[in-house]
Amino acid sequence: MKMKYISCNLCQGDNTSLLFKKDSMQIVKCLDCGLIYVNPRHLEEDLKKIYKNGYFNGSEQTNFFAEKGLYISRFQERLREISRFKKEGRLLDIGCAMGYFLEVAKEKGWQTYGVEISAFASQYASDSGSNVFTGTLEEAEYPGQSFDMITLWHVLEHMPDPLGCLQKIQRLLKRTGLIAIEVPNIGSRRSKRLREKWDQLKPQEHLYYFTPDVLRKMVKKAGFKIVKIKTIPGGTGLGNKLEHLKFAKFKKQLIGLFKYLQWIKKCIIYFKRIGGADDIILLYALKL
Ligand SMILES: [Zn+2]
Repeated sequence: MKMKYISCNLCQGDNTSLLFKKDSMQIVKCLDCGLIYVNPRHLEEDLKKIYKNGYFNGSEQTNFFAEKGLYISRFQERLREISRFKKEGRLLDIGCAMGYFLEVAKEKGWQTYGVEISAFASQYASDSGSNVFTGTLEEAEYPGQSFDMITLWHVLEHMPDPLGCLQKIQRLLKRTGLIAIEVPNIGSRRSKRLREKWDQLKPQEHLYYFTPDVLRKMVKKAGFKIVKIKTIPGGTGLGNKLEHLKFAKFKKQLIGLFKYLQWIKKCIIYFKRIGGADDIILLYALKL
C-alpha cells in the first residue's frame, strides 16, 4: 500500500524523533510541540476502508454488542458530568458507532444527531431513533452553529486531521457550545511501562497520540476555552482475547460470558479509579 509523509498537525513543523516501530509503521514525536503521530502513513482512501463494515460487524468487535451495558453506564456518567455545563439542546456525536451515547442522551431529552462512517453501525444507531449520517463529518455538510454540544468519544486519535476536525467543530457549535473529548493518554503510567506493547498503540487505526498537555494545546488552538480536563481509568483488558474469536457457533455462549464479565470489569475499573489510573484523557471545553 502507498504511504505518505505528513508534517505535524498541531504546529506544522517537521522536526521529529522516532519513538516506536510497530506493525511496520513508525510512531514519531514532534520535537517542537510534543504531538505524537504515525509517519509516514497510509493514504486517506485506504484509512477509510478499515471502518467500512469490518470494524463493527460483530465478529471482530463482539464487545460492542456484548458490552452494551458497560458502555451505557459509562455514558450515563459522562452525561451527568455534562449536565453541569449543558442540560439540553442539539447534540452531535461524531463517530457515534452503534449510537449508545445517543440513546442515553435522547432519554435525557437531547435532540440526537450522529455521524458514523460504518454503514452497519450507522444503521443500528438510526434504528434506535437518532438522526445519523453515514459518512465523514465533511460529507455531512451541517450548516454553521447547528449544535449545542458535540462529542468525540475515542475518535480524535483516528482522524487524519485532528486540528482541522476541531476547527470544523468550533464552527458547527452555537455560541458557548460545548465539546467533550475522550482519547487514550500516551502520558499514562501504563503507556510508559508497556512502551510499544501498550494496547492503545495501534498505528493502523490510531494516527495520533495525546498527553493532557498536547491535547489542551490543540483544543485551545482550535478556538476553545477548556473548562475541565482530567485523566481516568481505561478498560480492564479482560476478555480481549475472547473478542477476537471468530467461531460463530460459540458466539451466543461468548455473549453470555461477556455479560457476566461486565460486573467483574466494573469492579476492576472502580479499584483502578481509587488507585488513580490515568489511561484516558477526558476534556470539556466551551467555544470561545
Ligand atoms: Zn508539532
